[in-house]
Amino acid sequence: MLHISNINVYYGKSVALRDVTIEVQEKEIVSLLGANGAGKSTTLRTISGLLVPRIGEILFLGERISGLAPNKIVKRGISHCPEGRRIFPDLSVYENLVMMGAYLRSDKKEVSESLEGVYALFPKLKERRNQRGGTLSGGEQQMLAIGRALMSKPKLLLLDEPSLGLAPSAVQDLAKRIREIHELGVTVLLVEQNARMALGISDRAYILEVGKIALSGISQDLIKVDQVRKAYLGI
Ligand code: ATP
Repeated sequence: MLHISNINVYYGKSVALRDVTIEVQEKEIVSLLGANGAGKSTTLRTISGLLVPRIGEILFLGERISGLAPNKIVKRGISHCPEGRRIFPDLSVYENLVMMGAYLRSDKKEVSESLEGVYALFPKLKERRNQRGGTLSGGEQQMLAIGRALMSKPKLLLLDEPSLGLAPSAVQDLAKRIREIHELGVTVLLVEQNARMALGISDRAYILEVGKIALSGISQDLIKVDQVRKAYLGI
């Protein structure tokens, strides 16, 4: 579904990603792990068109998307749930979902079907639909950010550190919701610092170290690798 081939991405003169190659097959959950500053968010920003690789290319469903504007990439079926949630605090839950999440969609019937789908996944959001986004708890804001990303009806969902700042029980709940979203047919590329959670729910994983892929493989195999256990699982 997604082929990232040998991309090099820069911020001005400094290189953030070197020869990064990642593949995501349809219906997989793939996680991308790494320490602070490894380049995980940069990878997602490049997929969604906020950054353009200087070298290399990205194909989605067989077509080149690197170089396209972010709104065009959303229309192709990729939705990005950014780090730090970035919800609109002064808009209601409903407005965050419909006005912002479904901004590029015009078929009202389909939008309201998607809204019901999001409310079915996250019943709290339905209860709180008229509440300002900024007044929700951290866990609820994360659900809102994911719900908003789902409102563009993505084929591929990019999740950037959704567990950040959540209590352990909320992280467990989040993992369950990501699986549910996946069971609905959405492919997921999950960036996480919580390697235990990410390896627990993903099919395969890539590990980034200072802008390069250091290791990749089946998640259940990576859990057994000493280097991964020491550096990312604290075992
Ligand atoms: P974190 O978990 O801390 O977000 P990350 O793995 O997502 O880490 P990135 O945010 O992708 O890492 O950052 C990769 C590198 O690019 C880092 O060295 C970072 O300092 C640098 N970088 C990120 N954003 C910018 C920017 N806007 N301008 C310049 N350098 C940047």
